[in-house]
Amino acid sequence: MVNCLFCRIIRGDVPSKRVYEDEHIYAFEDINPQAPTHVLVIPKKHIAGLKEATSEDEELVGRCHLVAAHIARQRSVEDGYRTVLNVGPRAGQSVFHLHVHLLGGRTLQWPPG
Ligand code: AMP
Ligand code: ZN
Repeated sequence: MVNCLFCRIIRGDVPSKRVYEDEHIYAFEDINPQAPTHVLVIPKKHIAGLKEATSEDEELVGRCHLVAAHIARQRSVEDGYRTVLNVGPRAGQSVFHLHVHLLGGRTLQWPPG
């Protein structure tokens, strides 16, 4: 997707602080962190969001979560972290390329706002 912000980040057209990369997945620091660890984990394939994902994408959605767990282990935040997908504008989704937020390093309240 030519104009998608996160596709542009994957291509390197927009700078990002890379945390992890493999053939299918890219992870980078959120530009406006809401916790000491706030990493975005995205599939390299453009998928607009969770509600647009299909059964073809089940491995990619799973991989995003497993990469988040890997980063959480590396960052030593396994005493409590959260993986979040905001789905749709009413839930705060502002970038329409599927992304898993990894938030950790502080106490997280429940329920989220
Ligand atoms: P959401 O609101 O769930 O769609 O999440 C989008 C996230 O992308 C927000 O947490 C933003 O802070 C983050 N974000 C937006 N632009 C950039 C960027 N250029 N680099 C890193 N993170 C970004
Ligand atoms: Zn995209």
